[in-house]
Amino acid sequence: MLNILELHKQLVEVALPSGFEKPQGKLLAQLAKPYVDEVFSDALGNVYCHKKGPGKRMMFPAHMDVIGMMITFVDDKGFLRFEPIGGHSPAGLIGVTVRLESGVRGTIRADAAADVFKHGFGDVDVHDLYIDIGAESKEEAEELAPIGSVCMFDAPTTMGAGSTMIAPYTDDLCGCIALLIAMEELKDTQVENDLWFVFTVQEEVGLRGAKPAAWDVQPHMGIAVDVTRTGDTSGEIDGQRMQVRLGKGPTVKIKDSSVQCNPQVIEHLRKAAKENKIPYQDEILLAGGTDTAAVQKTRAGILSGCVSIPCRNIHAPAEIVDLKDVENVGKLLAAAAKIAL
Ligand SMILES: [Zn+2]
Repeated sequence: MLNILELHKQLVEVALPSGFEKPQGKLLAQLAKPYVDEVFSDALGNVYCHKKGPGKRMMFPAHMDVIGMMITFVDDKGFLRFEPIGGHSPAGLIGVTVRLESGVRGTIRADAAADVFKHGFGDVDVHDLYIDIGAESKEEAEELAPIGSVCMFDAPTTMGAGSTMIAPYTDDLCGCIALLIAMEELKDTQVENDLWFVFTVQEEVGLRGAKPAAWDVQPHMGIAVDVTRTGDTSGEIDGQRMQVRLGKGPTVKIKDSSVQCNPQVIEHLRKAAKENKIPYQDEILLAGGTDTAAVQKTRAGILSGCVSIPCRNIHAPAEIVDLKDVENVGKLLAAAAKIAL
């Protein structure tokens, strides 16, 4: 069995934000290679892991890009302005430590004018924020963080209570790990379906990688893997009611704000879970999109669904997942892959 915590640490160490996925693509390709017949990538950087079968094509996308920031301006004092890559809560960024591509660290602060303590954190705009790397001059800062370079959260990957893991970027590096678990499960099994596990790029900036990947693979069924919110924290986000609970198993997505999953795929996943005694939960995610939608809208339409990992604090530097859920997502994918289409 693969060590999820150690794999996550390795991936977080190399991962870069959307559009810059080369390092994690290279590592994932290496990790997948022993389990499949061929591994290759396309012009955008999507990584395809193909396990050949005589039957119909099934595609399993998980996005390997993570959210981050791009440096847009360096001021005279050496402070850095940035644009978000992917969805961020501006108030949640204040005080966060980031790692630049050059390896130097910085801390995110708010302009004095934003006066967050007076007006409240809710009023903070991302343009009120800057990164301080401790540089003495504009020149020094530009050398370490030129415009166009990117940075990401610098936060530890560690165990929480029980089998939970607290870490940045479980969205969706844990989805990528679930694909590896599925590939490992199927290593010595000849499967009827022709299987395509795809690590996709640029999901966080608008599901941009999965669509061309699905066009290329032309699957009969696509099953994406991503994280989903839970309804078990104090003060559920936006007061939304959500049934998903951390640690209660993978979810079978019914809908999110980007997609309504095809009933055939939902049934396929429920059947795979029941026959293999894998716990699962039904999921309706009220806000948020996934690669599922991009796959569904490719070519003349593709049967699409999604399995999610329950995750608290999505897009924060300390997301929480349960490693049992991640493992069971991998098992559910393998079980679904074995049922001939
Ligand atoms: Zn995601």
